[in-house]
Amino acid sequence: MDDLDIAPVSEGHVDTIDVSRFGQPQFRKKSERPLAWMVMRDRFDQFLTDLAAESGASVADSTPVQSIFETDDCYEIETPTGTVRARHILAADGATGPTARWLGIASAPTRSAAYEVEVAAPRDALDHWHQAANVDVGYRPWGYGWVFPKAGTLSIGVVTAPARGRAIRKQTDRYLSRLGLDDAEVIKVQGHPIRYRRSVAEPVARGRALLLGDAAGLADEFTAEGIAYAVHSANLAADAVLNSDDPSATYADAVNQHIQPELNAARTISRIYYWCVTTWPWLALKTSKYINYLWRAFFRAMRGDSTYAHELSFLPFNGVLIRTLSGNA
Ligand SMILES: Cc1cc2nc3c(=O)[nH]c(=O)nc-3n(C[C@H](O)[C@H](O)[C@H](O)COP(=O)(O)OP(=O)(O)OC[C@H]3O[C@@H](n4cnc5c(N)ncnc54)[C@H](O)[C@@H]3O)c2cc1C
Repeated sequence: MDDLDIAPVSEGHVDTIDVSRFGQPQFRKKSERPLAWMVMRDRFDQFLTDLAAESGASVADSTPVQSIFETDDCYEIETPTGTVRARHILAADGATGPTARWLGIASAPTRSAAYEVEVAAPRDALDHWHQAANVDVGYRPWGYGWVFPKAGTLSIGVVTAPARGRAIRKQTDRYLSRLGLDDAEVIKVQGHPIRYRRSVAEPVARGRALLLGDAAGLADEFTAEGIAYAVHSANLAADAVLNSDDPSATYADAVNQHIQPELNAARTISRIYYWCVTTWPWLALKTSKYINYLWRAFFRAMRGDSTYAHELSFLPFNGVLIRTLSGNA
């Protein structure tokens, strides 16, 4: 995202993480610089679409792809307004998009469920969460609740295991209640499963069709975030299509080299962290409160000044640890 100035659609930033357990405040940690930028997805996505159009893309909005057929030299993409012929497909149709299935690409299975509400919070709540995100821990078997402050609203949600997906709305309602926001007006609700690619053996491309972002399972298993990986994978895919005779192999290699090590490291951290915080919550919270090194490392990775994989490399036997806990040979 370094070359992208998102100021026109930015809703502010977060530099503080406020940790709670089932709504009980524990401690706050502050980064010396912004950790994350806040956007509303509808405005952010429109902003990106407008930039693409300004660069020459023709945009067919509200035109769902209904099926895709592969011929010898192109793909025929059926839509309600007609058939589009394309030499390449870069499919960014999300975790539940149909492209991978249509093209027989067995991409990453569903591994978590996330649900979020945008609420028009009262002034005191907006002031309390100004530039601060809440991370609410203790959820079983793993997962967390969050508050992200936007301009005039709060995004509040929960991510957990897919088996808990049915209960996730109730869990979010309980979380809202603990935050004292049960009466806040809900402006928007969204939720969907998230897939995590866990191994280089899980395909991200076939022929001249490449899967980007969530469609390929490129989300971080520790935070469940995927926007940065979606943008990164789009850059790698564009580069492969423009510069390679075999875009599919070039793209898969690039994802394996530049993104997969981070996903493996995120999975390792998530397994250690969620196990500690559900097995020994008191000890895990006390330890994470007082070991500032962990926070500085997390903040460096969040800001993009470092990577999870780099921070884990300081641990003894880190290679064995990552291979064992991420399940990657
Ligand atoms: C509740 C929740 C909160 C999240 N919060 C964060 C966060 O704070 N930060 C973060 O980094 N990540 C977050 N994530 C993850 C993040 O949303 C995804 O990783 C990211 O959106 C992936 O981008 P994408 O472009 O690959 O897919 P998406 O953003 O899911 O976009 C897919 C698009 O494809 C379209 N589509 C699907 N099928 C078709 C079709 N047949 N024809 C045409 N179009 C189609 C969809 O309408 C959609 O617009 C969150 C996820 C959830 C569920």
